[in-house]
Formats: sequence, structure tokens, C-alpha cells
Amino acid sequence: MRQSKLFLKTSKTVSEEEPTVNGRLLEQAGFVSKLMAGVYTYLPLGLRTLNNISKIVREEMNAIGASELLMPMLHPKDVWQTTGGWDNIDVLFKIQSRTEKEYALGQSEEEVVTPLVLARVQSYKDLPLAVYQINWKFRDELRAKSGLLRGREFLMKDMYSFHTSQEDFDRFYSEAKEAYLKIYTWLGLVAKVTEASGGAFSQKISYEFMVLTDAGEDDILYCEVCDFCVNVEIAEVKLGDKCPKDCAGTLAQAKASEVGNVFDLGQKYGKDFGLGYTDEAGEKKFPIMGCYGIGISRLMGVLAETMNDEKGILWPESVAPFRVHLIALPGKEAESVFSASDKIYRQLTDLGVEVLYDDRLDVSAGEKFADSDLIGVPHRLVVSQKTLALESLEYKKRNESESRLVKLDQVAEIL
Ligand code: ATP
Ligand code: MG
Repeated sequence: MRQSKLFLKTSKTVSEEEPTVNGRLLEQAGFVSKLMAGVYTYLPLGLRTLNNISKIVREEMNAIGASELLMPMLHPKDVWQTTGGWDNIDVLFKIQSRTEKEYALGQSEEEVVTPLVLARVQSYKDLPLAVYQINWKFRDELRAKSGLLRGREFLMKDMYSFHTSQEDFDRFYSEAKEAYLKIYTWLGLVAKVTEASGGAFSQKISYEFMVLTDAGEDDILYCEVCDFCVNVEIAEVKLGDKCPKDCAGTLAQAKASEVGNVFDLGQKYGKDFGLGYTDEAGEKKFPIMGCYGIGISRLMGVLAETMNDEKGILWPESVAPFRVHLIALPGKEAESVFSASDKIYRQLTDLGVEVLYDDRLDVSAGEKFADSDLIGVPHRLVVSQKTLALESLEYKKRNESESRLVKLDQVAEIL
């Protein structure tokens, strides 16, 4: 992508009102634009990053056998009344039509997916199955001051699974848990897994996936030695206690952001809708359901929040909007510099490398470097009169301070 054509404007100043690092950096670097608290436009760089995160999540969900679909965001009132959510879920956005009918905006989609799936499941032979979507959710959050970490409109991956037995549910539940941990590893994050109570309607245990960050809104206690971790909200232990797993560790406390969770929904939703399947004996049964969320846009916020330095963002390779930032410094020899850098751009692009090519003519070297650091593309290549005289270009990784010269014909190899 040629930067001269890209809809991108970085800014030097930081909004004083924005309290979080991710909110400030992502605005400054031209990834997002805030329309109002908790509601953002994803600009081209931001959309590419969001899509890259989605791609990783999608691959791991497909790998455990879930099918992707896309459900509506606008829901009729009656399905939310059927489950009790209309009156009990305080974050549910409710909309009135000019015809005086009422609707809800999806904050999660059990109300849509349960009748959808169970209308197509006749017998136990149709189960187990799992479906998921990556779609916008709406929540009437009271405080949306954490940048992308808490949106009123935000991108979530939500998966729902249906099973004929608790054992089969447990099997899939642990596969999903492993898939989640893989996803966070791909993203370069270390997620701690907490056990928590299962939300509004469930007595069951659920798991929350937590990434340590001061911008997070959860407080967790975790063992410094083993993998024990709990949310402070429900904990029977406290800071400084000995680890309840008897591993000789003590408990530390930290702020964290919940980047995903998995819930055992039991039979609630099938029962609410009166929908089930017939078992081997021909009897009607309600399936055991699970739901599995990942905050895709929150993850983008957490990455920016935790991976940065004083100059800008340091995206991990797996989600960076581009892999390479190719910077041409035309100087007085614009023609030869652009001709050489155009060639490298074509060469890398033909190899399938995603390149952001700073081909802007009237921008100073200092400004180009500052933009590049701010945006945070992992590999930087610089072509100038000086490097061309040595038949080379300058190569530097975003997280390194020293650059080195690389021969023009060896560029593809180092990447
Ligand atoms: P939180 O405790 O942070 O409000 P939650 O328990 O309400 O999260 P779920 O309803 O399980 O979250 O949603 C699944 C995932 O969606 C969460 O793990 C989180 O990553 C993400 N998420 C939830 N609420 C928001 C929000 N307002 N903005 C961005 N992401 C969110
Ligand atoms: Mg919530």
C-alpha cells in the first residue's frame, strides 16, 4: 500500500481527555477515531489489525470444528422476554420503532442462536455441534473510559456449543480452553485463566482469560509460582496468602483485562425456548450448551496498551497492519531513490509480503521516521541516496535501536 494514497493522518498531539495509553496511541497513530465514548471508527490501519486478530481467532475456532455464521444485531423483543434478559440485563440496549414495536441490540446472542440451531436439530445424531460468529455487540456500559477495552459497540467472537451429555460438553469445553490459550500465544500475550462464577443465569463455573495490564478493569490474585488465578471479586483468598494449591508460592495481586471467557450454560436456553432433541429412546431432551466469547476489539486495545514504547506501538508480527514499512527518502535524487524503492516494493509485494510504502514526496525524514515508530510496523526498510551509493538499504526492526545495511538484492532473504 502506497502511503501517499492511504487514508491516514497521524497526529503529534494527544487528547488530554483520553486517560488510557491504548486510546491515546491508537488515535494518534491513525488506527481509530472516537465518535463518542466507547464507539469508534476503525480507520484503514485499525481495520487491518482488527481483521488480522479475527483471522487468528477464526482459524482456531475452525480447527476445533465450529462453523462460522453471521447472525443479526437487531433482535425482536420477544426472544429476550423468553429468556428473561429483557428485564434483567442492565446493559441491553432497547430500541423503539416508529410503529411502537420494541427491539434489542445484540449484547450476546443466545436468544438468537438457540432457536436457530434447535429448529435444525432433530435427534441426538445431530449433536454435538458448535457455531460462532465475529460480529459487533452493543452494551449500555456505564463507564466507557478505557479506550478499546470497553466499548458500547465492540467486536466479539461468540461461539455456542450444543451437547447431549455433560461429559461431551466437558470435552469440548477443554478443547475450547486450549484453543483460546493458543490464540493468545499467537498474539504474543500471556493470558492467565481464572475460575469464576458463571454469570447472571448460571450456577456453574466459568473461565476468564486475563491479561495483566494497569488499564484493565478486573483485579486478580495469582500465584507467582503455579497457574492458580482468581478474580478478586469472588475470591476466598487474599494478597500475600499462601497459594491454595500448596505449591509453596504466595499470591500477588494485579489489574487485568478479560480478553475472553467460556461459560457452561447448562440447559437453561433450551428449556426457556422449549426446544430440544430426541434421544436414543425417543424422548425429548434439552441440550447442554456452552458459550465462548473473545473480545476482538478489546484485544486490539490490550495489545496497544501493553506493547509500546515512548515512540509508539510495537505490534506483534501476527497482527501488525503491515509486515514491512518501506521508507523512501528522496532527497535531491528523488528519481533514482523512487525508482529503486518502487522496485523493492513490487518485489516484496509479489512475494506476498504486506508492505506499507512511504512514497510521500514532501515529507521530511524525521517526520517519516516518527510516523513509522508511532504506527509500529515490525520491520523498517529505508532507501536513500546514501544507501543507494552502497547498493544497499537500511534495515531495522521496530523493537531494535540499531539499523544495519543490507544489500539491495538480499532484502527478500532477511524478511
Ligand atoms: P466485562 O467483565 O469486562 O464486562 P463480560 O464478563 O461482560 O466482560 P462477556 O459478556 O462474557 O464479558 O463477553 C465476552 C468477551 O467480550 C469478554 O471476555 C471481553 O473480552 C469482551 N467484552 C465484554 N464487554 C466488552 C466491552 N464493553 N467492550 C469490549 N469488549 C468487551
Ligand atoms: Mg460486562
